[in-house]
Amino acid sequence: MALKEEDVSGLKERATAILEILKKKYTSARVALKFSSPLEILVATILSAQCTDAKVNEVTSSLFKKYHTAKEYAQADLKTLEQEIRSTGFYRNKARYIKQSCGIIAEKFGSKVPYTMEELLQLPGVARKTANIVLSNAYGVVEGIAVDTHVRRVSQRLGLTKNKDPDKIEKDLMRLFPKEAWFPINYLVIELGRDVCVAGIPYCERCPLVKLCPLAFSFGQRGKKVNATEQSL
Ligand code: SF4
Repeated sequence: MALKEEDVSGLKERATAILEILKKKYTSARVALKFSSPLEILVATILSAQCTDAKVNEVTSSLFKKYHTAKEYAQADLKTLEQEIRSTGFYRNKARYIKQSCGIIAEKFGSKVPYTMEELLQLPGVARKTANIVLSNAYGVVEGIAVDTHVRRVSQRLGLTKNKDPDKIEKDLMRLFPKEAWFPINYLVIELGRDVCVAGIPYCERCPLVKLCPLAFSFGQRGKKVNATEQSL
């Protein structure tokens, strides 16, 4: 469902207040994945689907010592690569995406990770979230807001979107936050999502946004079952 036009100015005001509070609270919010090149952040972000950043960093600490170029990943033995990334979960799909994407990068993009949204979206396993993370962190190019599981959950709870689809959530957030906030808001919201607005029952009692949140204290008590609607957020 799209945000109603008449709601947008009020939502924008609340979004601005949310941004200011989060900037003060989480002063060191930044990408947690370790990387030293566009190729490394691309591979790390593909591996981060359904996996913690800490586990990805553990796996990439040895992976990045072995593979240095797109061609090396493209030519890797699939079964070997699968085992090397196995602990990140969904390893068969991830290994295939990395090999195929790197094959395209090597052949079509001169072994350089592309730096436009349009080109990045041509790579298997790369949707807007991954493309946004790669573009902003590797190239300083900000075309949107990376919507991961934390951003999705928290922005729904805060009433900043009614959508469930990440691309639609991203559009809603892009309308509410100024462009200069598109890069930091992702990491600020992730910090909030890890710190207090966790999946399940959030810690509203110590949330800095409690006065701005329509769902504050509506998730029941810890230790009791949450209802189906609350569970889905
Ligand atoms: S008040 Fe509660 S539900 Fe709202 S953002 Fe904070 S932790 Fe999440």
